Amino acid sequence: MLEETFESDEVKVIFSLVSFFLGSTPFKTPSIYSLLNFTEFRHDGYWHINGGMYTIVEEILTLLKKFDVEIIYNTEITGVANSNGVLNSLTDSKGKEWKADRFIINSDAASFRGLILNRKKFSRVKLDRMKWSLAPFTIYLGVNKKIPNLYYHNYFLGNNFTEYAGTLFTSDTLPSKPYYYVNMPSYYDESTAPPGCENIFILCPSPDLRYKKDWNDKNEIADSIISDMSERINCDIKSHIEVKEIYSPVDWQNKFNLYQGSGLGLSHDMLQVGAFRPSNKDEIFPNLYYV
Ligand SMILES: Cc1cc2nc3c(=O)[nH]c(=O)nc-3n(C[C@H](O)[C@H](O)[C@H](O)COP(=O)(O)OP(=O)(O)OC[C@H]3O[C@@H](n4cnc5c(N)ncnc54)[C@H](O)[C@@H]3O)c2cc1C
Repeated sequence: MLEETFESDEVKVIFSLVSFFLGSTPFKTPSIYSLLNFTEFRHDGYWHINGGMYTIVEEILTLLKKFDVEIIYNTEITGVANSNGVLNSLTDSKGKEWKADRFIINSDAASFRGLILNRKKFSRVKLDRMKWSLAPFTIYLGVNKKIPNLYYHNYFLGNNFTEYAGTLFTSDTLPSKPYYYVNMPSYYDESTAPPGCENIFILCPSPDLRYKKDWNDKNEIADSIISDMSERINCDIKSHIEVKEIYSPVDWQNKFNLYQGSGLGLSHDMLQVGAFRPSNKDEIFPNLYYV
């Protein structure tokens, strides 16, 4: 379909990157998912949240406060304390028990079943055999000057897409010329950076922790991406960095319990969608749901 619609190789690549976020490559993803690009371009567009994405969290918190909802932070659920046909309570990492009539689990539905509930069908070996979406390598930069030649959305492409897409998910090293996406919200929304400064987010799709386990090289990887970008937009970024935060797949795993650092959970492979995907209602406990 892309071949028929576009002549430019770069545009074809950009339109096919969506399949990375679905957890596969454009050469293996069912073409039905091109509808995602279609609806975005034809109907909805991309939405920017004034003040940045975190504004959504703040607004939800304000609403929840009105309903007297109490939120308990920094508490990791690590096991089942008590069950007899229904789930009565879960335990956290400090051994505290949490009782409820109904439980809604917001962490990854497959790995929660395996690692917390110890279900055999979701053991580590079986989880590792499933197909997982890309692991993000992300860089957050605060830069103390305005950056020319960067726009709101920016794609930095290499010139070996077929080979890149074929090896990216199963390699233990990042390609020397990675493809990456850069978002600069301060291009449109001045509230996201101090006056005269920019706020830059870089996302580089990477192999997950099954393939690349050691990310001690994360500073070097980030430096090489920043240098590559500086060269390509003809602007020295490095000497203007005020804030730099790097999250490798290890950080994504540790911070959010994302299985093997996979950013978007199970991939949307044919055998992992619809009825084949782990259900939102638990198979055993009638009062346990996943969202
Ligand atoms: C780099 C990156 C870029 C993305 N970009 C976009 C985008 O541009 N647009 C878009 O629509 N989506 C994007 N996504 C996807 C989007 O962020 C997710 O789909 C969304 O955050 C999922 O929301 P959630 O509430 O289901 O889960 P999460 O946001 O993952 O929340 C789950 C929470 O549960 C906590 N948790 C996990 N395990 C436990 C446990 N055992 N005990 C207690 N707490 C636990 C985690 O710490 C986390 O806070 C992106 C994701 C990534 C990683």
